[in-house]
Amino acid sequence: MHEFGIAEAILDAVEKRAAGRTVRHARVRAGALLRITEPAISQAFAMVSAGSPAEGAHLELVIVPARHTCRTCRLVSMSDDAYATCAGCGGIDIVTDGGDELILESIQTAEATNVPGNPRRDSGDPVGPS
Ligand SMILES: [Zn+2]
Repeated sequence: MHEFGIAEAILDAVEKRAAGRTVRHARVRAGALLRITEPAISQAFAMVSAGSPAEGAHLELVIVPARHTCRTCRLVSMSDDAYATCAGCGGIDIVTDGGDELILESIQTAEATNVPGNPRRDSGDPVGPS
């Protein structure tokens, strides 16, 4: 299933960043064109993460819309659809950017006390960007 492949990719990224720590929360940016929903991906993630340090972690999904640029009138719009009609001129000569990314934005671990001034939210990566 589609969601399981994505959930496994997320788990892989979460485990690398957690480096063995217990994960409580993970925030993921996912392009709208991936067509995933938080309930579906949370369920898939719960299954693939069973037995890992990320088991039981809450997955937060931030859907990133695709960006469409009309080649006729240059109007730029954001949409969840892969195929859009220009809202400005009704044209269909549209260039689509983004909407298919999958990015682990942050994680929060059980030992999340390393962010000065913000004890409630770990930026997720005390060892630096990977
Ligand atoms: Zn247009």
